[in-house]
Amino acid sequence: LVRAVNVMKSFHGVEVLKGIDLDVHRGEVVVLLGPSGSGKTTFLRCINQLEEIDGGRIWVDGDLVGFREDGGHLHHLTDKQVAAQRRDIGMVFQRFNLFPHMTAVQNVMEAPIQVKGVGKKEAKARALELLEQVGLGDKPDSYPAQLSGGQQQRVAIARALAMDPKLMLFDEPTSALDPELVGEVLRVMRELANQGMTMIVVTHEMGFARDVADHVVFMDGGIVVEEGKPRDVIVNPKHERTRSFLQRMR
Ligand code: ATP
Repeated sequence: LVRAVNVMKSFHGVEVLKGIDLDVHRGEVVVLLGPSGSGKTTFLRCINQLEEIDGGRIWVDGDLVGFREDGGHLHHLTDKQVAAQRRDIGMVFQRFNLFPHMTAVQNVMEAPIQVKGVGKKEAKARALELLEQVGLGDKPDSYPAQLSGGQQQRVAIARALAMDPKLMLFDEPTSALDPELVGEVLRVMRELANQGMTMIVVTHEMGFARDVADHVVFMDGGIVVEEGKPRDVIVNPKHERTRSFLQRMR
């Protein structure tokens, strides 16, 4: 579903991604691990076109991301085409970014109504279903400020799912939460994985990576240092850099 080849990205002359390759098959969960500053967030943002890549190619579901290729030349897509590509990708951030003046159900309904032109009644029914799915069937009318961090993050997941994405990107979805709230968010993510959602997850939660990931990618300094099955990368890492990172995580 996702193929990245030799993806490069610099900020002000500093190379943050130095040629990232990644393949994600449909229904797979890929966990990206790596120290702070290794480029994980930047890579997710490139897939979702929150950043434009400087080199390489990314395809999502067979479509070249951000560009149209014409006889070996790349042309930028129009804003409308970019928006259409982004619609199919759900993203959940470290901070929940809910609309503070809207209730949980309104947060979840908003994009389908505004972006897809879904009718209000239909959008609401689906939003209630999704809130039920993330364990918040009893809180549709709560405002974000009335919800715990874990509950807000579950609303954020429901909101992303409301667009029926092909792919979900999670950027450290539990790292801003109090420890006792981490489990409820990971549980929702696990269920989503079990339902066959294709997911790329940046996380430091090693238990989740070990149990849920089909494939683990360890990044450091803008390159993929090591990747493979969780039992290879997390339990028996080959590279010294992976080992020392994992040791620090314990
Ligand atoms: P973290 O776990 O801290 O989020 P990360 O692996 O996700 O780390 P990135 O957030 O991708 O790493 O950042 C990689 C590097 O790129 C960092 O040195 C960061 O300062 C730099 N960087 C990221 N975004 C920008 C930007 N918009 N402008 C300038 N530098 C940036």
